[in-house]
Amino acid sequence: MLNPQVVLKKYFGYPDFRAGQREVIDKVLNKENVLAVMPTGAGKSLCYQIPALMQSGLTLVISPLISLMKDQIDSLRQNGIGAAALNSATPQEEVNPILRQAYEGKIKLLYMTPERLEMDYFRYQLNFIDVDLVAVDEAHCISQWGHDFRPAYRNIYEGIQSLRSKPSILALTATATPAVQEDIAKQLNISQNNFVITSFARPNLSFQVVNSPKDKELYIYNYINNHKSEAGIIYTNTRKKVESLTKYLQKRGIAVAGYHGGMENKDRDRVQDDFQYDHLQVIVATNAFGMGIDKSNVRFVVHANSAKNLESYYQEAGRAGRDGLESEVLMIYSPGDLQTYRWFIENSAADDQYKKTQYTKLAKITAYANTSECLQQFIVRYFGQDCPPCGKCSNCLDDREINDITSEAKKVISMVYELDGRFGKNIVAQAVTGAKNQKMRDFGMQELEHFGSLKLKQKEALSLINYLIANNFLVQEGDQYPLVHVTNRGWDVLDGKEQVFRKGELQLSHHLEASTG
Ligand code: ADP
Ligand code: ZN
Repeated sequence: MLNPQVVLKKYFGYPDFRAGQREVIDKVLNKENVLAVMPTGAGKSLCYQIPALMQSGLTLVISPLISLMKDQIDSLRQNGIGAAALNSATPQEEVNPILRQAYEGKIKLLYMTPERLEMDYFRYQLNFIDVDLVAVDEAHCISQWGHDFRPAYRNIYEGIQSLRSKPSILALTATATPAVQEDIAKQLNISQNNFVITSFARPNLSFQVVNSPKDKELYIYNYINNHKSEAGIIYTNTRKKVESLTKYLQKRGIAVAGYHGGMENKDRDRVQDDFQYDHLQVIVATNAFGMGIDKSNVRFVVHANSAKNLESYYQEAGRAGRDGLESEVLMIYSPGDLQTYRWFIENSAADDQYKKTQYTKLAKITAYANTSECLQQFIVRYFGQDCPPCGKCSNCLDDREINDITSEAKKVISMVYELDGRFGKNIVAQAVTGAKNQKMRDFGMQELEHFGSLKLKQKEALSLINYLIANNFLVQEGDQYPLVHVTNRGWDVLDGKEQVFRKGELQLSHHLEASTG
């Protein structure tokens, strides 16, 4: 009888398992239902590919994306493993031959979209096949609390139950908060004892956040120039921005191409190949890029327009440094980008509950952009784990002087209190800096005690408010138009029980004010 280690060496050429892999494989071979939560690049696929090779029956892999299936199947076939896919792109005349090969055991891994598994025809056909394992890839899609809910995922369990053979289930995901983990487990009948969760920390990544650089395109150009001959991905949030940034960088001599969902398939494939084989240094892309790519030496991932939530951010940024070598991930943050994401949510067709979840996630990424804590730690904690400060993110390395900003913070917090939780942070920023506009007059803001009490620019006040929210002195409530309230921690500041410190920032703006008069 083969053991997993032998199979690993024989088919994949690797000497050792990585963290978590062996544990998952052993449980699966033991016919238990398992939830595997491992970061991107950790090697989740092997967790079902190896059992597939060791069991006599078929392994069904439920996967959300056709491109993802294609890449996996190509590489399995290269290793001499029988694999095929059934999805909406499978030509009709190939469907029955594929099912026959699966029946005959010539195909060990059959990839399907969840939508196929919903169809009576496939359920019927699968009844003739001995299925040992169903692997549910990107399992967070099953949960409304996740960031990529997909309705057909909800019916996977019922589809599995309808099979004559009673396969075990392996759910896999890279981005599941504890709530999402629980939801997956409940829906797929997985017991808590069978959660295999490896560390979310990515010790070879240095996380960086940059707040509103003056000339963003130039900033990115310089950044790339400081990373000469290193492969990198720049994510941006619209096709138009992909095109304009690509042009900008091309003009300045960077070997770069754009990638987005609006391009022809053949152009996208070409760009992906050119990047894979190092003919291109940099790809500028929307989030359409990356799901299927397996380039291990990506040295940097830059998000030019923040990200819509931490799950997506970590997944996309996580494409850097899959080979384990030092790599950088940079998020460029400007408040305007968040407005864009807010707009996307507002105008999506989703139901209110789902929108609400997305707004909460948006608030969390704003907090990430404004926190003074270790960035790696911030993310790991978000996913329900803990780790020590990384010592190399832009916050850990921020050696600017720490300033006592208690008195500025008090002014903002008092203003929020005076406004009685009836306004959002932009109005708070305007009021506390004493903006002279119609809105202020309409609301009679000038009458308030703290109107204009903070001698900062409005933008800086907003940054301070974001900082106070990120660090729990203030909190936003409400979804579409969140209103700012004072937290217990904020009260402690007003009561003189706690001071507020911040690196750099305020000193800089005092300096600015002094120099601009
Ligand atoms: P994930 O799905 O978790 O993002 P993949 O399954 O695509 O990650 O694996 C990422 C890369 O790591 C692949 O190139 C894979 O071949 C490689 N890999 C997986 N397991 C091992 C291992 N035990 N040793 C070396 N490389 C591995
Ligand atoms: Zn850190």
